[in-house]
Amino acid sequence: MRIILDKLGHRYSDDMDAATAVVASGEGLSGASPEVGRYEQALRRSFDAANAIAVSSGGAALSAALHATGVKPGDEVLVSPASTLCTVLPILNAGATPVFVDTAPDHWGIDLVSAGERITARTRAILETPMFGYPTPLDRLNTFARQHGVRLIGDLAHAHGSMLHHRPLAAFCDIACYSTHDRKPLSTGEGGFVLTPHEDLAERVRAYTRFGHLTGSTFGLNYKLGGLPAAVGRSRLKHLSTQLANRRSNAARLLTALKHPQVRETVVLPGGTPNYYVVVLLLNFGASPSNRAFIYHLTSRGIPSDVARYGGRVLYEYPILAPYRRPCPNAESLLAAATTLPIHPDVTRDDIDYMVDVINRYPA
Ligand SMILES: *Cc1c(COP(=O)(O)O)cnc(C)c1O
Repeated sequence: MRIILDKLGHRYSDDMDAATAVVASGEGLSGASPEVGRYEQALRRSFDAANAIAVSSGGAALSAALHATGVKPGDEVLVSPASTLCTVLPILNAGATPVFVDTAPDHWGIDLVSAGERITARTRAILETPMFGYPTPLDRLNTFARQHGVRLIGDLAHAHGSMLHHRPLAAFCDIACYSTHDRKPLSTGEGGFVLTPHEDLAERVRAYTRFGHLTGSTFGLNYKLGGLPAAVGRSRLKHLSTQLANRRSNAARLLTALKHPQVRETVVLPGGTPNYYVVVLLLNFGASPSNRAFIYHLTSRGIPSDVARYGGRVLYEYPILAPYRRPCPNAESLLAAATTLPIHPDVTRDDIDYMVDVINRYPA
């Protein structure tokens, strides 16, 4: 049996040079060091964004975005229950109420009919998570948000390099949050960043993540990214487009070779380009043998699943979110039918051929 590596900590040959150079520079390693400014400049260029703010985690990015868009205690935020705990807990931290809205029947984006039914006068923002890096119709969600006078926040923690109509997904959001945790396509170990076209939102994120600039006039905490991870991030950003091309060609090789009649890729939206953070499969085994049995078959053969990692259930099944339960049948069906395959830079061609072989021969 082969063990397919899970996707922690891909190293690049020039990581150490970048880290050594910033330490040796004597510029200091705080969040106020010039290296963080250079990293933010590189992020703006790479993601074609007007403003970039480096922060200490994806969760910090979400908290800052919620604060910047004016989400206050008692406000409501629309969010899919097929997103992640990391997406929703920052809403609770803001004292706001997550209002679960269903996904579309055939993709992972928020369904506009469900959103229309559940939006109220207290709704302040919509928080969309293009799960596993597959683009969702953020263009239509952006129009919907504008029509209702609410802000669109993107949790793009999986979606570095994912495109819709040839534009980065952040282009469709009022404010976009990324994680650079070690599992994500761009890694600084721990870390994150916020992108926004709006100067006022950018300044509110900056103040919130820097103790209100210590002026004592606005609230904030310390959510800055340090100079050392910024240096690693700036160096790795140079490799991102090559990494994405590699992920896409590996995904194509895998998907072309998959021949199992009950296994297909999840829907790729017309005009959407996934980054292939992972490959998402939709299974059609019904009850016997079930999707669970398929996932177990793969994990017991060394092929890890992110759906299994996240529990494979809608978020209102977790005790902490049970008070916010709203039925979302499409999201439940999607999660019950989905699994993922690793396709990160350390997955080899032999690994891909092995995964294809295990799946094509299932249930053998
Ligand atoms: C990883 C992740 C986060 C949180 O990012 P951290 O950097 O770990 O705080 C948020 N949302 C999604 C969808 C994620 O995958």
